[in-house]
Amino acid sequence: MEKDPIGYVLARNKTYCNYCPGYCCYRLPGSTLFVRAEDINRMARHFGISDGEVRRRFMEGKNTFKTRDDGSCILLANERMCRRCTIHEARPQQCRDFPYDKPCPYLENPGLLDIIQPRVEQVLLPANRCQDSSQP
Ligand code: SF4
Ligand code: SF4
Repeated sequence: MEKDPIGYVLARNKTYCNYCPGYCCYRLPGSTLFVRAEDINRMARHFGISDGEVRRRFMEGKNTFKTRDDGSCILLANERMCRRCTIHEARPQQCRDFPYDKPCPYLENPGLLDIIQPRVEQVLLPANRCQDSSQP
């Protein structure tokens, strides 16, 4: 399939992320977000709680976050589309680095989009959208 040259460039330089529903915040078979001790400590300082409390509230096992039934990261505000990662300033290093200065694989791979798009569309239903406070 021919690549969309505009999407290709935008996904690479992360500008596209500002308009993307956050495909990479959903767990897929064979892919798991890796959360390091430094990431947990950054979050602890962000919330003003202990590292252990971060682990208790958000971690599944030692090295990744819990996910919801739809596969979304527990820290994704998936009920609305205006602010997605609830810890954007304190997010893990892997979330910061992805897609590692390469074209985003979620946008390039129709198979991945097929898996995630139905989940994303659930949160795009009118009842789940942000209220626009500028409207009367
Ligand atoms: S890295 Fe890819 S999937 Fe993640 S927000 Fe950016 S464009 Fe979307
Ligand atoms: S921590 Fe934030 S950026 Fe990282 S997967 Fe979760 S919601 Fe997405």
